[in-house]
Amino acid sequence: MSNGSVLLVLYEGGKHAEEQEKLLGAIENELGIRKYIESNGYQLLTTVDKDPEPSSAVDEHLKDAEIVITTPFYPAYITKSRIAQAPKLKLAITAGVGSDHVDLNAANERKITVTEVTGSNVVSVAEHVIMTILVLIRNYNGGHSQAVNGEWDIAGVAKHEYDLEDKVVSTVGAGRIGYRVLERLIAFNPKKLLYYDYQDLPPEAVKRLNDVSQLLNGKGDVVQRVEKLEDMVSQSDVVTINAPLHEGTRGLFNKELISHMKNGSYLVNTARGAICVAEDVDAAVKSGKLAGYGGDVWDQQPAPKDHPWRSMDNRDHTANAMTVHISGTSLDAQERYALGVKNILESYFSKKFDYRPQDVIVKDGKYATRAYGQRK
Ligand code: NAP
Repeated sequence: MSNGSVLLVLYEGGKHAEEQEKLLGAIENELGIRKYIESNGYQLLTTVDKDPEPSSAVDEHLKDAEIVITTPFYPAYITKSRIAQAPKLKLAITAGVGSDHVDLNAANERKITVTEVTGSNVVSVAEHVIMTILVLIRNYNGGHSQAVNGEWDIAGVAKHEYDLEDKVVSTVGAGRIGYRVLERLIAFNPKKLLYYDYQDLPPEAVKRLNDVSQLLNGKGDVVQRVEKLEDMVSQSDVVTINAPLHEGTRGLFNKELISHMKNGSYLVNTARGAICVAEDVDAAVKSGKLAGYGGDVWDQQPAPKDHPWRSMDNRDHTANAMTVHISGTSLDAQERYALGVKNILESYFSKKFDYRPQDVIVKDGKYATRAYGQRK
């Protein structure tokens, strides 16, 4: 007799899951937690069939599920209407970071706990941000496409190729990922590193960055907080977005805010697709207002084939550095978030509910103080 059921929704691995056993985030490998779940008397249900609501396998399984586990990479959207159809649901776990695919207000109304594995992929994402900035600013795609297409038009690439050194780079959100991006950027000897966040970074965190800059680059006062977002983006050669998606950030980078950005600057978004207005970014890239846009997050995942960011480009140069949502699901990250999910289940199964405070997004009908946008 089973205690209840756990619904696991992950991306499909297919032959890749057979070839790579470390692909824990693929449905075939089930985060490596089947035995653990069953040994606790729970039944494990798995599916990749998550859309459309209300006719997918997710909808069917949610009728019975006590726990749902899903990822931001291939999210099962836990909407208000799905929650209404899931009478036994008590816990939603995000295998990764960012639980905006869950309707948090609806979860609160039903006192469903929402947790994620905070920190599990922050290095992975920070590395992807640095890569994307370089891909854009060095016009890597232009050079690469010539290399594989048998061409040799150096000028055609070089006319849009810059150094990252001596540029102003800024981050919207200076939390776990944003700070790691700033840390990694110091090595490139930037002119300034700016950040916009609800609060100051701790003074020792700023000092650490400035000290490393002094040591490496001979200049010690590079990191500054900017109070107004418009002021920050107007000074920046590169803006990266590292804030969560919530009511205050949805659609933040729209035509109006982009109009304050420096002409020919770059925008990199690995936070959430819906923080940017897709059509406004597309128009800015096409017009050359933005020299490039890149990232791995989309307002709908999987993104439809005709999503503007798939074909977005500038007629004069390659300005598109989009990937599918991969930054936070490197094999190293998968190992960390699989372990984190198991730890969250352990707290639940043991009935201690002693989750790591930083993993809790909502619990007992309330937002945790660290939850998105709650700390103004
Ligand atoms: P974090 O440590 O919580 O940092 C986010 C920071 O952004 C916090 O300092 C937060 O302040 C701040 N913030 C919130 N709203 C803001 C706003 N309107 N303007 C400026 N700053 C704001 O989170 P993290 O681990 O760095 O992750 C950030 C986001 O990246 C996640 O929420 C997720 O959406 C995304 N992510 C993407 C991937 C991927 O695979 N692409 C993987 C992991 C995470 P408060 O704490 O005061 O609210």
